[in-house]
Amino acid sequence: MNTLGVIAGMSWESTALYYRLLNEGVRDRLGGLHSAPLLLHSTDFAAIAALQRSGDWAEAGRQLASAAEGLARAGATAVLLATNTMHKVVPVIEAATTIPLLHIGDAIGRALQAGGYRRPLLLGTAFTMREPFLRDYLGERYAVEVMVPSEAAQVEIDRAIFAELCQGRFTEQTRAFYRQVLVEGREAGADAAILGCTEIGLLLATGERPLPLIDSAVEHVQLGLGWLLGAPGQVAG
Ligand code: GLU
Repeated sequence: MNTLGVIAGMSWESTALYYRLLNEGVRDRLGGLHSAPLLLHSTDFAAIAALQRSGDWAEAGRQLASAAEGLARAGATAVLLATNTMHKVVPVIEAATTIPLLHIGDAIGRALQAGGYRRPLLLGTAFTMREPFLRDYLGERYAVEVMVPSEAAQVEIDRAIFAELCQGRFTEQTRAFYRQVLVEGREAGADAAILGCTEIGLLLATGERPLPLIDSAVEHVQLGLGWLLGAPGQVAG
């Protein structure tokens, strides 16, 4: 198998999910005692979140690029950046390393295409919902019209991600709020929802689903599994 590097810890709640799903995927495919050959660089998310808040994306990019270089030196043949938001600094990471970065936008885009969805509602951090790095990636490469929730809803979605989900708090009240956002998205014409933050799937794992859900963490793991289980050097998905 190929060895996969994961830049992680943003937050560790979703990294734990990536770790479990990557290992389960390898076990399901190869059986027995097989597990995923992974190298994990787990950050202190408080430090990364502080750089996000202060707008110092250049420094955040330098730190994640250095993590990717370290993973490459240690033997990873590709890297997953296990957060949507930090894909904002992918150009910095890609410029610093020779191994491929398996972009979360490709994981999401392939899932949208497979489901035939054209007008997905994007939920994520304020950075992800407001800025072009993921929206335009999907729009330009996968010919979808990405919708976002109302401004007021974006504020509460973002607050809950940092104050609750990334700290392992999953409440019924927040679950009901997110579900209401999905209902409003459906009424506005969305045909699916992108859980474009790797912790949202943990919140919405149970209960009613007003729209088909594309979970970025789950789809990203599938892209990683394609690499782990593919031929050496092959970009698989
Ligand atoms: N895990 C989240 C994401 O997928 C938020 C954490 C972050 O800001 O990196 O965007």
